[in-house]
Amino acid sequence: MQRPEPHISAKVSIRRVERYQNELLLQAVSEMYAAAGGPDPRGKKILLKPNVLADVPPERAVTTHPEVFRAMASYLLDRGAIVLAGDSPAIHNPAFTAKGCGIRQVCRELDIPWIDFMEASFTVKGFRLAGILKDVDYVFSLAKCKTHEFAYYTGAVKNLFGLIPGFNKAMMHAKYPNRRVFAAMVVDLLDIVKPDFALMDAVIAMEGAGPQNGKPKHLGLLLASTNCVALDAVMAQIIGYNPLDIPVLANAVQRNIQLNNIADIETEGGEIKDFKVRNFKRIAIERKYNFIYMGVRFEHLRRRFDRRPVFDHERCILCQKCVQMCKAEALKVINGRIEIHDPNCIRCYCCHEVCPVSAIDIKRKVFG
Ligand code: SF4
Ligand code: SF4
Repeated sequence: MQRPEPHISAKVSIRRVERYQNELLLQAVSEMYAAAGGPDPRGKKILLKPNVLADVPPERAVTTHPEVFRAMASYLLDRGAIVLAGDSPAIHNPAFTAKGCGIRQVCRELDIPWIDFMEASFTVKGFRLAGILKDVDYVFSLAKCKTHEFAYYTGAVKNLFGLIPGFNKAMMHAKYPNRRVFAAMVVDLLDIVKPDFALMDAVIAMEGAGPQNGKPKHLGLLLASTNCVALDAVMAQIIGYNPLDIPVLANAVQRNIQLNNIADIETEGGEIKDFKVRNFKRIAIERKYNFIYMGVRFEHLRRRFDRRPVFDHERCILCQKCVQMCKAEALKVINGRIEIHDPNCIRCYCCHEVCPVSAIDIKRKVFG
């Protein structure tokens, strides 16, 4: 990738936007882009990377809302940018076009090409990445504020994981099986991609069992920054986390990737305390078991104490997406139902992420 080093600052813009209404979103995006110091888009080829974990209707709050996507894209097109868009869900087929979530329709209306991340994918520093990254000037992370069973929280940084096409993501989960090493890998990816701008859709966020099976939660917020780590650190605080409890953010700060001190963050549009949400259902941090995260030789203990996938066979429609996703080969269909071979399970929760009918719960079950 030949892109120049982006100019990033620790400034995060915040705006209240109560609903997905085109004029409101466009006004907020225009203000925030200028305030946060977004790069000059004139004549630049810009890849917009929304979060399309699963191609489901926007009301489920799984994906970046199509109207947020439209506002960002329109702003850039009006200023002479060449805009492209794409994402790669965990189970990616070549015909994937983000139709169900509404983004494809916006791309059609604005004449924005939807890019297949499988095309011309290449390897850099151990990462298989979307080929289009070699061909754009800027990369923008259009994130969705969601809880995440494995990462606790997913936002602008974790959204970049979708630049790894299709099943390669599950391979990375298998290769980096616990939160600590997985977080370090995601920060490595951040440091390779070096996104130029991030916009966070937190108008309606997801709380509870995210990133796919949680509940929509109205927050009425948009955030923007040239700094993905700072943006996520602000968002995490708004929903009640200590940002340094989120492994990806702690790792980035520890290594001084984009940010080396949470206290350096400057907000524009209001202070974090003005936007804090008190009753947001977060994923509990596994603090109790921190002692077992000290090394590989404790991996079996981590597995025992960490929450595990539990299947609701009544609800399961036997689509087998979980079986496809599980690179640890822990899942099989036996006698017409999904069975787990627990010693193989690395607790990556990829199965939970792709289940279309919420038939997989993530629960603590130390014995059995
Ligand atoms: S069963 Fe689920 S949590 Fe366990 S390794 Fe497979 S995908 Fe990951
Ligand atoms: S992904 Fe969900 S519905 Fe599909 S087989 Fe697995 S548990 Fe059943």
